[in-house]
Amino acid sequence: TQEIVLASRPKGMPTKNNFEFRESDVPSLKDGEVHLKGLYHSVDPYMRGRMNEGKSYVPPFKVGEPIEGAVIAEVVDSKSPNFKEGDKVQARLPWKKEMVAKGEHLQKIDDSMAPASYYLSILGMTGLTAYFGLLDIGKPKPGETVVVSGAAGAVGSVVGQIAKIKDCRVLGIAGSDAKIKMLKEKFGFDEAINYKTNEDIKGAIAEACPDKVDIYFDNVGGPISDAVVANINFHARIALCGQISLYNATETPKGPRLQPMLLTRSVLMQGFIVGNYSDRFPEGIKQLAEWVKEGKLTFEETIVDGFDKLPEAFLGLFHGDNKGKMVVKA
Ligand code: NDP
Repeated sequence: TQEIVLASRPKGMPTKNNFEFRESDVPSLKDGEVHLKGLYHSVDPYMRGRMNEGKSYVPPFKVGEPIEGAVIAEVVDSKSPNFKEGDKVQARLPWKKEMVAKGEHLQKIDDSMAPASYYLSILGMTGLTAYFGLLDIGKPKPGETVVVSGAAGAVGSVVGQIAKIKDCRVLGIAGSDAKIKMLKEKFGFDEAINYKTNEDIKGAIAEACPDKVDIYFDNVGGPISDAVVANINFHARIALCGQISLYNATETPKGPRLQPMLLTRSVLMQGFIVGNYSDRFPEGIKQLAEWVKEGKLTFEETIVDGFDKLPEAFLGLFHGDNKGKMVVKA
């Protein structure tokens, strides 16, 4: 079967050369194992961190070994009593077209309830990140102003909609006019700013948020976050979810240091990892699924066709190629 391995560790922005395609054998099944065929592979910004050496909250990928990520797969053969041919499962699995995995590492999904790919986005990790980050850290109250960076992506587009469900005023920041249009027309954001064409983001935020910013859901960091913090309200909450603008930085950028603003305005800033909430995932999935069913929550997927496009799709995350969740259909 075909597999994709980490060929080398990137310095700065990764390229296709950091990946290599190889052929490998699919081993025969032992008791308790299942033979799987990948259906949908998730590509996620956090995987950039795993391409580096050194410890983080997930261990680094190993050079010469397959990349791994969240996958929706179909069972083709099983020696596990818990799975049968045709079952759809979700797990963290290697970037291989076909693979063998232990039954206990797999979670069955019900694709009669929702399309299988939803379990990588709205009913999966990115939906839960939006849900817990906004509600637990942001604690939105009706009438408050919420700003979301990376607003047109998998996490951001859900954050904005949940903020609307909670009766907040929502401003999204994203990187193209098509994304701005989508935020307003499809997701119901009140305002949206294109940070790539707007030369005064700080001023644009001030204009869009006359009562200042009560909650900032930060997916990107860097100068965009500096511009939001310059408009922060007293007793605001900042949910520090991602810092994608810094993931490929080769030097630590020196920002305008706005901590005095956070201090004098009594702002609370908290970083989080969605895994912190794993014991509450069932609650989150149930609520997200309900909102989807009720038509209160909609979303977008960018589905790239072909296993061989995995590296390109992953790299595309750092160039804003995706609207909503970036997924590869194997
Ligand atoms: P997205 O779907 O948002 O995809 C990434 C998007 O980031 C791109 O489409 C692009 O949109 C934007 N982007 C890329 N480079 C830059 C840059 N230099 N400056 C500003 N924006 C940039 O990804 P996810 O929704 O999966 O993840 C969003 C963030 O949340 C990431 O930072 C990720 O690491 C983080 N995350 C954190 C989790 C946690 O547990 N804390 C869990 C999941 C995600 P544009 O066109 O607008 O530039």
